[in-house]
Amino acid sequence: MIQIRSVSKSFNGTKVLDGLDLDIPRQNVVTVIGPSGSGKSTLLRILDFHEQADSGTVDFGDGPVDLTTTNTADIRKVRSKIGFVFQNYNLFLNKNALQNVAEGLIYSRGVKPEQARKIALEQLDRVGLADFADRYPSTLSGGQQQRVGIARAVALNPELLVLDEPTSALDPEMVTGVLEVIKQLGQDGMTMLMVTHEMRFAYEASSSVVFIEGGHVVEQGDPKQIFEHPTQQRTAEFLSSTNNVLMIPAAA
Ligand code: ADP
Ligand code: MG
Repeated sequence: MIQIRSVSKSFNGTKVLDGLDLDIPRQNVVTVIGPSGSGKSTLLRILDFHEQADSGTVDFGDGPVDLTTTNTADIRKVRSKIGFVFQNYNLFLNKNALQNVAEGLIYSRGVKPEQARKIALEQLDRVGLADFADRYPSTLSGGQQQRVGIARAVALNPELLVLDEPTSALDPEMVTGVLEVIKQLGQDGMTMLMVTHEMRFAYEASSSVVFIEGGHVVEQGDPKQIFEHPTQQRTAEFLSSTNNVLMIPAAA
């Protein structure tokens, strides 16, 4: 179990996260939903020390690490456990797909180039892009670029894969391929913390859905419960305000 505790963060005096607690069981896909501006991206960025929390800890089972720390050894330790998939892929445009995936292995993990290349090819194959290894990002579709982004994060063998709206920059016809890759990773036992505004996606890919608002968790449960029988009024109101929810298959 990965435990996130008491995470708070204010920007310019406005509290965005207010003592948020979250548990991520190993080999589960935990999906965070909530209104725009509710601090979802901030939470993910704090976990990876891209943003400094005002308070809070994360514990991967080897003791809590203070999320306000500036100790580089602690930061490196946590970062080495997390793979990050960005909304806008963040690929190196001057490197091909293989180089994009191999890069982190070589430079942050000290893997020998030949071995890194081999791992990168395996991971590209896993996301259905074995034949695209030498293609540059500008020649790939958004969905393919995002699958390279996923392969790059997974190649580092993280304990936790964090995905911030992995499909929100994609045309609708590209979403399915990325969804399938993420579902497969989940079935392969990858522990994931994902933010998405695609409710069908959350419904299909998650073991657990967390609704956050006002800086804390309003409700957490399995997807069926959250989407079909939310216990909190606020969750029901949020879901009815997103027309996405209509895409849930009625007989599921
Ligand atoms: P979400 O991902 O849920 O849409 P965010 O975490 O991006 O929300 O943002 C939460 C709130 O914090 C928003 O009001 C946003 O404007 C604000 N915010 C996020 N990052 C910063 C920052 N670096 N400086 C100032 N305000 C920020
Ligand atoms: Mg966001």
